[in-house]
Amino acid sequence: TLDVTDVHHGYNGDPVFEEVSLSVSPGEVVAIIGPSGVGKSTLLRLLALFERPDRGRIEYDGTDVWAAPERRRLACRRRIGMVFQTANLFDASIRRNVEYGLRVRRSWLERLKWHLERLTGEAPGTGETLEALDVVGLADSATQNAASLSGGEAQRVAFARALAYDPDVLLLDEPTSDLDPRNTAVIEDAVLEARDREIGVVVATHDMNQAERVADRVAVLLGDGIIEVGETATIFEAPRDERTRKFIDGEL
Ligand code: ATP
Ligand code: MG
Repeated sequence: TLDVTDVHHGYNGDPVFEEVSLSVSPGEVVAIIGPSGVGKSTLLRLLALFERPDRGRIEYDGTDVWAAPERRRLACRRRIGMVFQTANLFDASIRRNVEYGLRVRRSWLERLKWHLERLTGEAPGTGETLEALDVVGLADSATQNAASLSGGEAQRVAFARALAYDPDVLLLDEPTSDLDPRNTAVIEDAVLEARDREIGVVVATHDMNQAERVADRVAVLLGDGIIEVGETATIFEAPRDERTRKFIDGEL
């Protein structure tokens, strides 16, 4: 479980948000919605433990991450996977790209071996890699080079790589904003598969329909903090906060 309590964060003295609190449990999908520039990506970077919040607490399974020794913090970070808006794949086969996720999880030595195998052309292992590719419908293309893929296919590979990493928490920053409906549907199904594997998923998205389709809970980030977190149906049908309703109705 990831717990964010009263987090404040900003850049160069300018606050982005204040008093943000949010928790993510295994096997649930939480969507973060809010207008551009409100701090969705910033919040995901904090959840990924890439940046230290100006104030407040981030706990991972009860460990206060920024109060813990660095070793402990790195161990927490290793349990968190992330997929960005663009895929950032290696110029290597699809299979090898996904295999990377698997090796990174195991150890730095495995990662080193991955680089050596890439140089020597040795074939990577298959089982878990193909299984992750199967989730995004690309198992049959495993040997194809990732450089030749369309943006949508590349994003599916990036998702498979994150699944192969087997994180406890998976953070997705606008994972489908550049994708067509078909590739978007594949990614959304994969999000639900991740949830079934007891991964806690956080997805920042502009697409409210997407939030409605995949999220169990929705956090609305407006102005200077999260103004409402609730069950998806409640947020869309009967929000407590007037600003949530306005945002959902496109009036903000
Ligand atoms: P979008 O929907 O467009 O992706 P967002 O909600 O993800 O927006 P962020 O990218 O988190 O918003 O940015 C929030 C604010 O913080 C913006 O005003 C942005 O300019 C600022 N900001 C983000 N990262 C940095 C940084 N590294 N240095 C300085 N300012 C930053
Ligand atoms: Mg963003």
